[in-house]
Amino acid sequence: MKGRDLTTIKTGGEIKKLYRPKTVIELIDLLKKFESYKILGFGSNLLISDEGIEEPVISYQGNSLEINGKEVIVEAGYGLMSLARKTSELGLSGLEFAGGIPASVGGACFMNAGAHGGEIGDVLSRVWFVKDGREESLARSELKMSYRFSGIDGLVTKAQFSLVDSSNSKELLAKNLAYRKSTQPLSLPSFGSVFRNPDGKKAGQIIESLGLKGFQIGGAKISELHANWIVNPLKNATSSEVMSLIQYVKDKAINELGLELEPEVVMWF
Ligand SMILES: Cc1cc2nc3c(=O)[nH]c(=O)nc-3n(C[C@H](O)[C@H](O)[C@H](O)COP(=O)(O)OP(=O)(O)OC[C@H]3O[C@@H](n4cnc5c(N)ncnc54)[C@H](O)[C@@H]3O)c2cc1C
Repeated sequence: MKGRDLTTIKTGGEIKKLYRPKTVIELIDLLKKFESYKILGFGSNLLISDEGIEEPVISYQGNSLEINGKEVIVEAGYGLMSLARKTSELGLSGLEFAGGIPASVGGACFMNAGAHGGEIGDVLSRVWFVKDGREESLARSELKMSYRFSGIDGLVTKAQFSLVDSSNSKELLAKNLAYRKSTQPLSLPSFGSVFRNPDGKKAGQIIESLGLKGFQIGGAKISELHANWIVNPLKNATSSEVMSLIQYVKDKAINELGLELEPEVVMWF
């Protein structure tokens, strides 16, 4: 399968060895065969080389969901947005920030995805992952999570979230989503924010101040709506054009403002 079929930015070449185990036993058996491999979630934060990937790529598909009172145990292959919708319908609060983040639960834990002042680390209580041929788990307190960083060292298989009762969770989720729709180009292929927000500043405002809204290299374009988003409106961009655009923005920020912008996007090159 091609990167462009597996990522939300819709670019990238062939992934030659793609495996999609459905159970932890299958996953552990599979991982025994490889010295190294890459992990794929829902591909919403990934730029995959146009030349494709030779290394095995593992995408864990287990997606069971258990809700006991305010405790949620969910496998890594479940969609974060579906989970946020489901829990808010049950009057459980904590995941409303995730409306509009097209992540898998596993990818969201690994990236410590967040928005609207909330992040996965605020509600995560335990995470399970496979490392060195066996499944182990860590409590949230044992992880050193920070902005878009989890410190998880392994392939996430399952997460436990501790939520709280709320009467307005559905409204809050809808409000967050409506805000996103008015400020972000959600209908176009993208990978969300490209750069991390540097200390106390918004990367989008920095890029906008450089006059780059709408700037384009090949099919890759800085969104007119949100300058920290690169979009692929006609689905004809290559990953190297996206990469060149990222580098162009970085160079301009350093040369004109002395500011180092660091990509949030994961690159497989
Ligand atoms: C429209 C749009 C809006 C977005 N908005 C936000 C936002 O508001 N906030 C935000 O934080 N992000 C946002 N993102 C980016 C993205 O959704 C997140 O970074 C998300 O956490 C990536 O999850 P994924 O499952 O798609 O992971 P992938 O993109 O597939 O992978 C990302 C990284 O996670 C690793 N990974 C994936 N699954 C696992 C696993 N099971 N175990 C271990 N590692 C794994 C991969 O190896 C890779 O390093 C947005 C993206 C889009 C397209």
